[in-house]
Parts: sequence; structure tokens; C-alpha cells
Amino acid sequence: MQQVSAPIRQVSYWLWVALLASVYFSVAKASLLLAIPPGYATAVWPPSGIALAAILMLGVRYWPGIWIGAAVANLTIETSFAAAAVFATGNTLEALAGAMLTRRAIGPSYPLGRGEDVVKFVAVAALSPTVAATIALIPLSLGHALTGPQLLSNWWTWWQGDAAGIIIVTPLILAWTTRSPILWSRAKVFEAACFVLLLLGAVWIAFGSAAPDREPYPLTFLITPFIIWAGLSFGQREVTAASAVVCGLAVWYTVERRGPFAPFSLNESLLLFLAFASTVVVTGLVLSALLSERRKSAETRLSESEERFRLMVLNVTDYAIFMLDREGLITSWNAGAERIKGYRANEVIGRHFSRFYPDEDSRKGKPREVLDRAAIDGRVQDEGWRVRKDGTMFWATVVITAMRDAHGTLLGFSKVVRDLTERKRAESELMGATALAEKANRAKSEFLARMSHELRTPLNSLMILAKLLTDNAGGNLTPKQVQQAQVIHEAGGDLLALINDLLDLAKIESGVPPALNIGPAGLSGLKDYLESAFGQAARDAGLRFDVVVEEGLPDTVETDALRLRQILRNLLANAFKFTRQGGVALRIAASKSGWTPGHARLDQAQGAVTFSVSDTGLGIPEDKQELIFQAFQQVDGGTNREFGGTGLGLSISKELAQRLGGEIRVSSAPGSGSTFTLYLPLSSARD
Ligand code: ADP
Repeated sequence: MQQVSAPIRQVSYWLWVALLASVYFSVAKASLLLAIPPGYATAVWPPSGIALAAILMLGVRYWPGIWIGAAVANLTIETSFAAAAVFATGNTLEALAGAMLTRRAIGPSYPLGRGEDVVKFVAVAALSPTVAATIALIPLSLGHALTGPQLLSNWWTWWQGDAAGIIIVTPLILAWTTRSPILWSRAKVFEAACFVLLLLGAVWIAFGSAAPDREPYPLTFLITPFIIWAGLSFGQREVTAASAVVCGLAVWYTVERRGPFAPFSLNESLLLFLAFASTVVVTGLVLSALLSERRKSAETRLSESEERFRLMVLNVTDYAIFMLDREGLITSWNAGAERIKGYRANEVIGRHFSRFYPDEDSRKGKPREVLDRAAIDGRVQDEGWRVRKDGTMFWATVVITAMRDAHGTLLGFSKVVRDLTERKRAESELMGATALAEKANRAKSEFLARMSHELRTPLNSLMILAKLLTDNAGGNLTPKQVQQAQVIHEAGGDLLALINDLLDLAKIESGVPPALNIGPAGLSGLKDYLESAFGQAARDAGLRFDVVVEEGLPDTVETDALRLRQILRNLLANAFKFTRQGGVALRIAASKSGWTPGHARLDQAQGAVTFSVSDTGLGIPEDKQELIFQAFQQVDGGTNREFGGTGLGLSISKELAQRLGGEIRVSSAPGSGSTFTLYLPLSSARD
């Protein structure tokens, strides 16, 4: 076979022929010692097995070794040289035919790797001996006067011995020329020792235990479990060796006229033995073949899936995936790594991975530090600038994972790197844009604040002078002129209110909160103030106006009195503006709930005061009730609005209410009026 052919070729051909001949001859002579009385028939003819194994291993060229060995052996028992030559030719042709059939059916591989190989081999062992047995009939029929049945019996004996020889000996020799797949651990050696002892015991019980004069029990089946044991637990070497030992002992006991085959006639015991030997050998061989087949296919499956996984990793291009040994030297490199970092595999494998870090980081020992952390924590995530082969930088997110074997020994690290330069750029662009927008917004608010301030100064003089005109102290203005001066004064007042609102809004938006002035704010004072501020307007418009301060309230609320007035002024002005008939009411009461559930400041406060401004006016559609609290938003947002106004009042009031630790809520339905409710904490209204 392949493994042994190299040394064989160095030894000269004829030396091998001579060796083969002498082995064949000696084994043949020894086998004759085991001939079963009364004839010279042997239950096993091992030389046939040796011949087939020799041709399979050495090659067809070595056939003369068999021929010479067989001829000489036959000469020592047969009389004529011609007869010996014919027998030897038969033996040689048998081996050649067997080798040819084996190569055809099974191929050059050994050990018999698959279950069906074993079956095919049994067929070879049955077919090839027909050659020798048939050829042997020629000298027998010529030299001896034998009847037909006698010839047939001779053929049968010959065939049977050769077949048994091939089936037992050929696999034995071939198996022992290959490498053993068994790992001989101490436990395995112990198991083998137990196996041998128990096997010998079983053979003795099956064949040797009964006394020669007593009918033995047919206990051959005792052997089967041991052959199964050998097949499952060991390799083909052990199976063939065990089979050979069992068969050898079976023959020996049978020759001794002991054991279950002994009591039968020669032909019958030969048949029984052949059946026994075949069963033993085939069982063991099939089992070990199936097992090695399964082992192999599991191995191939595993290595195939490993290979697929390796290819997958290698071909990933979105991520750089590579491995480092314990020192940080690169041991593998995928397509993504090549794409992102610009190095080809052969340029970096074996190099240290610190080359990917900017000089500064390398100097600070960052690469080493990262590996140490990964070794301790198992995994490290990192972000930062890294260097490509061409010296350009990219923003990388990196995951380094420590790899350990089953015993926890550190093998190295896997590193997965993503190039997030694009995202980083987009992020910083966005941040720049946001900063710019914020700056612009601040500039706008500052501008508004300054503008409103600058507008107020001339407006004030304008209003003082208009007031003087309306007073008409000199009495030299016509009533019409006085009325016009009044219009100027009122318009100036509106303008001043608008400018004040704008200033408030600008302050709020610029993030510079209007300073609060918290202190005790008297409620009755508030009531008086609001009544005098809106009483006249209410009477003029023909609307009822009530301010009710309910029982159970403290005299003062801890808040910014001016801001509170500003809010209520806004709410009341709106109520009067949007009410044609009926009235407006302000109800001040203590309350324990009603604000948005979960409102932090109100929930924590000792109690709350509610200021509810209700009117019997237009009402506000549901879908606008949130919108109106935004700056410049009105229910009637069209250009030719009926009610005027700026849409700033509520948004400013809402901000102020928040800063005072409370909130404003609205409930309203179109046509049936609105109620705006301001909730303020009774105390601790500071920010
Ligand atoms: P302005 O009153 O200057 O328009 P506001 O922010 O105070 O600005 O109010 C925004 C809008 O909310 C008003 O234009 C109006 O459409 C609506 N609104 C406010 N209060 C009432 C109310 N009491 N009844 C009906 N609509 C109201």
C-alpha cells in the first residue's frame, strides 16, 4: 500500500520475492499442523490471506513469491512436481483475481472505511477461492481415481479453507499496515487488558470448557458481544486481531475434538467454522467501518463549517475584522480591514497593531493599555482617530475581545473596527449648525430687547405730549383736535403695551430669564387693583365683572406680585376682548388638584391657589387650545383679523406661570365661553 511502498522500493525485488515465498511456505507448513482429522483438510488456509494481502500491498509483480512458496509447500506433501506446479498456479491466480476484484470493488483504500466495503470484501473472499479450488481438481482427478462426490467434497474443502483464510488474515495484515486512530490513554490500555482477558475467558467457555467426552453446549454466540465491543471501542487493527485469535483458538479446539464444532462430520464442522469465522470478522469490521465513517463525516462537517465561517469573515468588507496574538501582533486580516486601513494582508500580518494608532497615542502606551483592559474585562470598546496606510486619519469605533481556550488561557484578541469618519463629520457639521443657529437666535433676541428699549424712550415723550394736548390746558384746541390727540395717546398706549410684550418675549427667548421678585403678595390688594383696572372697561362694554376671593385662603401668596398681575391682566384683557355679552369673572380659591397630574412643583407644594378667569365669549376650538400658547399664534390667524392683538400675551403668561412654579390650563368650547386657570403654589414659588 502507499504508506509502505517507499521503503519497499529500496529493497531489491528478488529479496522481497524470496521473503514472500518463505513466509508463504512456513505459514502453509504450520497450517497443515492444524488439519482436521481424519483428512488433511484445514479449516483455515492462512496462506491464501497472506497471498492476497501481499499482492494488494506489494503489487502484481510479486506473484512469483506466492508461486514459489506454494509450489515448495505442495512438493513437501504431494508427490509429483507437475501437480505441485498446478496447485501453486491455482494459489497464485487466486491471489491475483482477488486483488483485481478488490481494487475494482473497493478501490485502493484501506482500512475498509465504509460498511459496504466490508460486504464487498466478503464477496471477494467468497469468489476468488473458486479459482484455486477448481484448478486443484485437475491434478486430483488425473492423479487419483476419485468419484464425482469425492471431487466435489475436495473442491468444497479447498474453497472453504481459502475463503476462511482470506476473510480472517487479509484484513488482519492490511489493518496493521495502516495508522491506528486509537488514542492509547491509560484508561484505554486498561480497557484493552480487560477486553483481552474477558475475550479469552469467553472463548474458553465457548470452545474449551466441555470435557472431550461430553457433548458441548453450543455457546459460540458468547463471542459476539466481545466482537461488538472491539468494533465500537477500538479500531480495525484490534478487531482483526481479536477475530484472528478467536478463530485460531476455535480451530485449535476443533482439531482437539473439543467445542461445539467437534461432534460433526468434517464437512459439517468446516461449514460451521466458516459461518462462525465470517460472522465474527464481518460483525467487527462493519462496526468499526461504520464508526470510523461517522467520525470522519463529523470531522468533515466541522471543518467545512469552520471553513465557511472563515471565508465569511474574510469577505466581510464593512468591518475590519482581524486577530492579534497575545503580544498584539496581527495574525489574520480580512477584506474589510484591507479596505478601511489600506494595508494588504501580507503587509501587516506579523506586525504590531500599534501602527494603526496616531503617534501620540502610541507614545502614551494606549495600544498596550487597550489589550490589557481587554484581557482583564474580556472586552473593550473604544473610539478614536486611527491612521491608514497612506497616513490619513479615520474615526474608528473598535471592539476588542479577548479569546481564551477551554482552560481560560489567553490565546489572543479579535478586533472589529468600523470606519465612522462620515458619521463623525456629519455630527460635527450638525453641531456647528446648531451652535450657529443658537447664536443667530440670541442675536435676534438681543436686537429685539435693545430695539424695544430704544423705542420706548421717544414713545414716552410722544405720549406725555399727547396727554398734555388732550388735557387742553390752554383751552385753545377744538373738540375735534382734542379727540385726535386722544387717539394719538391711545394708539401710543397700545404701542407701548406691544413693545413691553416684545421685550418680555425677547428676554424669555434669549435665555435671560426676567428677574423674579418673590415676596408676599396680598390677595385683597390684587382684587382692588384688577377691579379698578378693568371696571370701567367692563361697564363701557356692558359686561358684568366679578372678582371673588373665596374663603379659606391666606391673606398673601408667596410669589412675584407684579408678574402675577401681568398674567391676570393678560387673561382678563383677552376675556373682555373676546366677549360680547354676559360677563367675565375672576375667582381666586385654594385647591388641592386640577393641575396637570405629575406637575413636580405643584405636587410638592403645601397647596395651590387657583385664579380662574371665565368669560361667556367666543370660546376656543379644541384643536387650537394648545396652539394659542405659542408666540404669535391666534385662533383667527388670517390677515384681516377682527380682534387685532399680537398673539404674544398667552405665550408670555405661560412662561411666567412656569417660572413662578405653576401653570395655566384652559377649558373652552366654541360659543360657550372659556376658562383660563392659573395655578400657583402657595409658597416656595422660586426657581
Ligand atoms: P392676542 O390676544 O394678542 O391675540 P394671546 O396670546 O393673548 O394674543 O391670545 C392668542 C389667541 O388666543 C387670541 O388671538 C385668541 O384667538 C385666543 N384667545 C385667547 N383668550 C381667549 C378667550 N378668552 N376667548 C377666546 N379666544 C381667546
